[in-house]
Amino acid sequence: ELLLEVKNLNVSVEEKHILHDVNLEIGKHETHVLMGPNGTGKSTLGYTLVGNPRYQVESGEIFFQGKNITGEPVNERAKSGMFLSFQNPLEVPGVTLSSFIRSALEQKTGKRVRFYDFKKELAEKMELLQMDPSYAERDLNVGFSGGEKKKAEILQMLMLKPELAILDETDSGLDVDAVRTVSKGIEEYQKSSKGSLLIITHSTKILEALHVDYTHIMVEGHIVKTADASLINEVNENGFAKYE
Ligand code: ADP
Ligand code: MG
Ligand code: MG
Repeated sequence: ELLLEVKNLNVSVEEKHILHDVNLEIGKHETHVLMGPNGTGKSTLGYTLVGNPRYQVESGEIFFQGKNITGEPVNERAKSGMFLSFQNPLEVPGVTLSSFIRSALEQKTGKRVRFYDFKKELAEKMELLQMDPSYAERDLNVGFSGGEKKKAEILQMLMLKPELAILDETDSGLDVDAVRTVSKGIEEYQKSSKGSLLIITHSTKILEALHVDYTHIMVEGHIVKTADASLINEVNENGFAKYE
């Protein structure tokens, strides 16, 4: 069953045409990987899917859970279960990590979140991600290292349990241990929340322990190849040169 369907999507940013006739189908519980050289439009696709208004859809459509969401604002998409982890997470002074996640959860579900249950689950997920419990009461991302910011993003994903999580270079700038921990967090999301994933990356360390259903290669705003997980090894060995 399809969760996301992107049809002939053309997107421009500040008058520059970036994405060209992108087609993409993501089924429920599937994990997709999007690879490609730098500056090719991978993040543009992520931002467009979640409805960032800087990214102008010129033509084409995005369907999510069977509904055309092409013109829907960011917060509506988040409510219906889309999540994007940023390449460079924002610092939010005055809002703790814990209260940020709790209010996001309340917005998504439209229900009050019970404090005790929330704290308990948060503590469990933080332990899995090897985050010090004190981070829950620290201002979101303020003074966090690169690795801690990435873990905080994965923590949000595990707590919010989105139907579709888009991870944009969540592994960039992480040391080997942090990559392994983040990868464990993603595995937990695959197992426990049964959501779908679009993992944008140009390194492949994070994928080693993960189940991957499909791999897509994007070059200059076009998806030039789609195949199974074996494509990751092929890219590891030969790079993108043959697609350029
Ligand atoms: P990737 O994620 O594959 O490295 P991006 O989607 O970030 O590529 O960028 C694709 C192209 O779009 C680049 O040429 C980049 O300069 C341009 N671009 C992306 N976002 C913006 C923006 N907010 N403003 C101006 N140009 C942008
Ligand atoms: Mg980039
Ligand atoms: Mg990018």
